[in-house]
Amino acid sequence: MTPTRVLVLNSGSSSVKYQLIDMADRSRLAVGLAERIGEETSALHHEPLAGGGKRERHGRLADHDAALEAIAEELAADGMGLDSPELAVIGHRVVHGGLKLTVPTLVDDAVLKEIERLIPVAPLHNPANVTGIRTAQRLRPDLPQVAVFDTAFHSAMPEHAARYAIDVETADAHRVRRYGFHGTSHAYVSRKAAELLGKDASEVNLIVLHLGNGASASAVRGGRCEDTSMGLTPLEGLVMGTRSGDIDPAVVFHLGRVAGMSMDEVDELLNKRSGLLGLCGDNDMRQIRRRMAEGDAAARLAFDIYIHRLKKYIGAYYAVLGTVDAVVFTAGVGENSAPVREAAVAGLKELGLAVDGELNAAGGKEARLISPSYARVKVAVVPTDEELEIAEQSYALVASR
Ligand code: AMP
Repeated sequence: MTPTRVLVLNSGSSSVKYQLIDMADRSRLAVGLAERIGEETSALHHEPLAGGGKRERHGRLADHDAALEAIAEELAADGMGLDSPELAVIGHRVVHGGLKLTVPTLVDDAVLKEIERLIPVAPLHNPANVTGIRTAQRLRPDLPQVAVFDTAFHSAMPEHAARYAIDVETADAHRVRRYGFHGTSHAYVSRKAAELLGKDASEVNLIVLHLGNGASASAVRGGRCEDTSMGLTPLEGLVMGTRSGDIDPAVVFHLGRVAGMSMDEVDELLNKRSGLLGLCGDNDMRQIRRRMAEGDAAARLAFDIYIHRLKKYIGAYYAVLGTVDAVVFTAGVGENSAPVREAAVAGLKELGLAVDGELNAAGGKEARLISPSYARVKVAVVPTDEELEIAEQSYALVASR
């Protein structure tokens, strides 16, 4: 019997999300989340999808090791433990692969070392990814582990998009360049969008807008990334839930000199207390829309700033690509917020862009077009599925060995 199951692990700084997927039919067998790892209030939410209902565990999970052991126990209780002969591979989401790790990669010591070496450019994420891989290796030493990198899709970016205009020696000495993130989502969504248009990915130019709590845009020409809005870190680009996105770097010096803020304080301000949250006190687009309906001026302004930035990126990437087949919305806000989609393309008829009010408002879980039939440039909603993409890439790699 050829094993066909893939366990996908997404280890964050204090959480582990997981899905067990059977690649024979792409079905989900179990999904879950271990959260608040390291705190007294840790919880594990586990759901076997073949039946049996959701289960919860409460109580301290001391570290990622403990969390992964608890996850393995829950899977084992459903007869789908890590020792199962049906398990083909564990696929890990790894945030930063740098310049060397640009394709899904079978993890060995050298690969782990490289992921560790990149910790200075991904201090929040790569340490958790390394821990997740080490623990999985300990629990199932004989099983292949594949790392799928969030930066990989963007590694095709040409130098003129990837470099900052700063002194080359300084940049190279410290690996300062634009890497981009959410690459697994941009890759999956651009492939699905091409399918929706009835074309091969190599034939279409797309502007992909991944609008979740984190948000990024990318310009994709013929299936390859030509530019993306996140940079050295996920801070650059669009206005996000709690991140500022683009900002004059002199703001950092100014806050240091004038407000006496430390580097760490400015880092925390721009990553955690900015974006929609910093502007109006809420980072959830649903809540912002509710407040707007009640006439709340701060929520209105936050929305307008969010849309203004989005529109600037649509325009910029239109110019980068020259011709555009579709603008594609994905992730929490992109998939669910009709008002954001409508506002983002409002006034862009001259560029061939429009949404159909009814199609836009209709909702749904499937990839769909929301532009009127006459539109020169299609507008699409394509639900992202990073876990399935990681499973596909990990499975393809072990199947090809
Ligand atoms: P993600 O990071 O992709 O999980 O997206 C999370 C974000 O999606 C939340 O913070 C909300 O702002 C947004 N979101 C989720 N559902 C909706 C909805 N129905 N309408 C508007 N925004 C939504």
